[in-house]
Amino acid sequence: MNQRHKPIRHPVPSPATLKELYANAYFCAFPGCQAPLYKVDPESKIRTLNSTAAHICARSEGGPRWDPTQSQAENMSVSNLLALCREHSAEIDDPKKEFQYPPSLLREWKTQQLATYDALGQGWSVSESDVEALQQRIENFENTFVNTTIELGGQGGNAPGAGGGGGGVLGSSNSVGGKGGDGGHTINLNGKPGTAPGAGGGASGVLGDGAVAGEGGSGGEQVTGVISGLQPGQVLRIEVGEGGVDGREGGASSVSLVNADGSLTPLLQAKGGKP
Ligand SMILES: [Zn+2]
Repeated sequence: MNQRHKPIRHPVPSPATLKELYANAYFCAFPGCQAPLYKVDPESKIRTLNSTAAHICARSEGGPRWDPTQSQAENMSVSNLLALCREHSAEIDDPKKEFQYPPSLLREWKTQQLATYDALGQGWSVSESDVEALQQRIENFENTFVNTTIELGGQGGNAPGAGGGGGGVLGSSNSVGGKGGDGGHTINLNGKPGTAPGAGGGASGVLGDGAVAGEGGSGGEQVTGVISGLQPGQVLRIEVGEGGVDGREGGASSVSLVNADGSLTPLLQAKGGKP
């Protein structure tokens, strides 16, 4: 059996759970953020929902802070939810930043949010239509997340002899981004600047705790020379090496003199880049 595992996706929290969350919180839980969960117009007193119920551990497998050991009930419970303004809910779930916000930190924020509620003695009662809006927001957010594309690979250099870009990395403080590749050596035989392409390739990126991205490939060697004084019967043979593909080294380029008797006299050689 080689059946593809269907990703787990827990249901959105129930209306009762969302009401309980809002009844016990007043401000966004992000430290220092003073945004109330509802914006209240000072004149009309009309309240507008200004926040969302963020998951401490994502409800979709592979989502931010996904915890495979959580049961469905734990995942849907109020203890797994944090009321945040919309800006800060986007911040903690940003795939490039979520590792800055581990579950332990968000649970500390939650404790603080409850303490603030206790001190103020004031939370929010959420209408049925706002509960629906919250559920819709959670659903929409997950869809946005699932369709996110993150590009991690570094780009190869464009300039002649340039090194490749290092690989990107997403992860905790244990993760290390890849180094950029070395630039190609330039061997200049006649004082003119080199022009042959010799750029290195980009390294691939990597995701995960303690992950290490690959290094960019080195640029190929670049050699410039002037060949003069060909004798009758002599011809030049020029071979251009192929660029390295799929982790292989690039081919060497060379110029040789083919003498009248068919023998070869090597004149110039430039090595290909390393993967
Ligand atoms: Zn906030």
